[in-house]
Amino acid sequence: MRVALVNPPWDYRNSIYFGCREPHLPLELGYAAALLAASGHETLLVDAHLEGLSAEAAADRVAAFAPAMTVVATAPTYLFWRCAPPELRVPRQFLDTLAGRGGTTVAVGPHGSATPRPVLDKLGCAIVVRGECEEVVARLAALPDLRPETLRAVPGLAVRDGEAVAVTGPPQAGRFTDLPALRWPDQWIARHRHHHHRFDAAPDGPGAEVEASRGCPYTCSFCAKIDFRDAYRRRDLNLVLDEIDGLIAQGVTYVYFVDEIFLPQKPLLEALVARDLRFGIQTRIDLWKPDMLDLLGAAGCVSIEAGIESLTEAGRAALDKRCRASTDDLAERLIHARRTVPFVQANLIAVAGDDPDLVAAWRDRLRGQGVWANDPVPLYPYPSSPDYRRLWGEPDDRAWERAHAHYLGQFAQFSDIQDERPLPLPELEAACGCC
Ligand code: SF4
Repeated sequence: MRVALVNPPWDYRNSIYFGCREPHLPLELGYAAALLAASGHETLLVDAHLEGLSAEAAADRVAAFAPAMTVVATAPTYLFWRCAPPELRVPRQFLDTLAGRGGTTVAVGPHGSATPRPVLDKLGCAIVVRGECEEVVARLAALPDLRPETLRAVPGLAVRDGEAVAVTGPPQAGRFTDLPALRWPDQWIARHRHHHHRFDAAPDGPGAEVEASRGCPYTCSFCAKIDFRDAYRRRDLNLVLDEIDGLIAQGVTYVYFVDEIFLPQKPLLEALVARDLRFGIQTRIDLWKPDMLDLLGAAGCVSIEAGIESLTEAGRAALDKRCRASTDDLAERLIHARRTVPFVQANLIAVAGDDPDLVAAWRDRLRGQGVWANDPVPLYPYPSSPDYRRLWGEPDDRAWERAHAHYLGQFAQFSDIQDERPLPLPELEAACGCC
């Protein structure tokens, strides 16, 4: 089968999206393309965001390829599935522009994982994949045809069948551990000048994103991973290193590990010590002992983002952090990490009842030791988070609208990066015909 895989040209205007706006490698589409190619399918990978293409140019390129199936992502890359832009206007605009020239249209991403029916409606596509998508996409391509009755055999789909919608099962998790080493086009890597979450130095070469593990054994109340990237799995180290060596050979000097929780893993860190590469991670500092933090710095880590969330044990317990360390212990470990890692950030979340003076004093103390602690940001109750389900139960067809309205109403102040006024979801999506 000929399959096009598309990352649309993201536009975050008036979005509540608080993630990074730079282009990153679309790992999920890369894995899907690799699995498809390994089974003999022909693929076209288009990243309109990274390649600087308009929706029209991307759609024309897909149409010229004449695929039997076109897969479009509803989040910019796996790195941001847990904090995706809630609105679907960008993938919808791409599909409108494609206008039936891409064969059967398939949406993958966090939105349809949680709420498949409204995503099928909002995007007007034929199939929605629920959960981690690469293996399911490969399975779709292996089917004899993509008629609704054939698709019923594949779990984790929402399929339009005339006026009805059939959901074939819950979100799927991939095996992940044996996903092949990804290879990206040279021109993509050359364009990827961004070093994600790096602040110690200007980019000295291309950057890239890599995944060494997926999921997390914790279940923090705000973390939107119930429907994807949930259970912790570690990718075969040889495959990870093979991918990294390929990137280094293409000139990459920095990689960001998109892992939910980059856990201490001596063999990986020792292998990185031997390579000329800097990297960034997100992790929990309470899981790192001083000697492993030293090895992390020696391995080339230049950026740590550590979720502290609340400065009181009661606050962390309310968020289900299951953190055994005291606030002082956490501060000590952050300061220890800062000895060898030039940028260390403690993430704080705005929680009702926080003492602003305590937060200000702690931030000042940490900053005095070279550790950055952000101004606490509010939480978006994503439909795939425990918080959403605690508030409203299982996500229904209005889940995203409900979460969005709650978020806009809850806090008067927003994260520093949101320089435009965030709009209600129906307004954001109305412009593209999603609603
Ligand atoms: S530790 Fe991090 S990745 Fe794991 S559940 Fe908590 S917030 Fe999510």
